[in-house]
Amino acid sequence: MRSLPGVTICIFVLLLGLLGCERKSIQIRETLYTCKLCGSTKQVTSQYGPDGQRRTSGETITYMSPTYASCNHQWVQGISMTIPEPVSDGAVVLVRKGHMYGAFILLNQRVDPERTDFVWYYRTDGQGDLGEGPPAVRSGKGRGGSIKFGSFEISWSAAEEGKGWLYYGKLPGQEVGPQDVRICVTEHRDVKDLDASAPQWLFKGSPTDPGIRGDEN
Ligand SMILES: [Zn+2]
Repeated sequence: MRSLPGVTICIFVLLLGLLGCERKSIQIRETLYTCKLCGSTKQVTSQYGPDGQRRTSGETITYMSPTYASCNHQWVQGISMTIPEPVSDGAVVLVRKGHMYGAFILLNQRVDPERTDFVWYYRTDGQGDLGEGPPAVRSGKGRGGSIKFGSFEISWSAAEEGKGWLYYGKLPGQEVGPQDVRICVTEHRDVKDLDASAPQWLFKGSPTDPGIRGDEN
């Protein structure tokens, strides 16, 4: 019995040695995929041996869409956080963050150098009328690789001349809270007479967010 701790320590050291060797020779790769059809996402973890051959592979569904079970999945690498269609120059994009409403219009979207101009509007008093009349509305112009004004920040990238991608701040399936930016692309060309707090607008904060209406809390 007295020799047991010694044996245990020996085995422990041996195991550590083995694990040490393993760690040096095994590579683990994680790849994210999105289903083009239902929007579900998965993470595939693969282990590669020292010879570069894949030994084992496992996958975890990281977001299961409501139509997951009936979908004939088409997995593509990566996770898309964009709004499905590129946004054209001149279209009014409404945004909200809790009770704060805003809007911006992309202008001169360029591929090379990749940047965009934009005009922005917002108010913090919970009202949604964004025309330039009300004194509560702040407005201005910006330029760059992302859309920043007030406490709003939305990522952008060029799709083609005059069109660009806007990105949600949350991953598919991730919870969207009142402090997250929600986006609604409209076909309007002017913020005049636009009320962002009207029920016709559906604001979303992630590719899978069912969204909330302009007048919803
Ligand atoms: Zn699918």
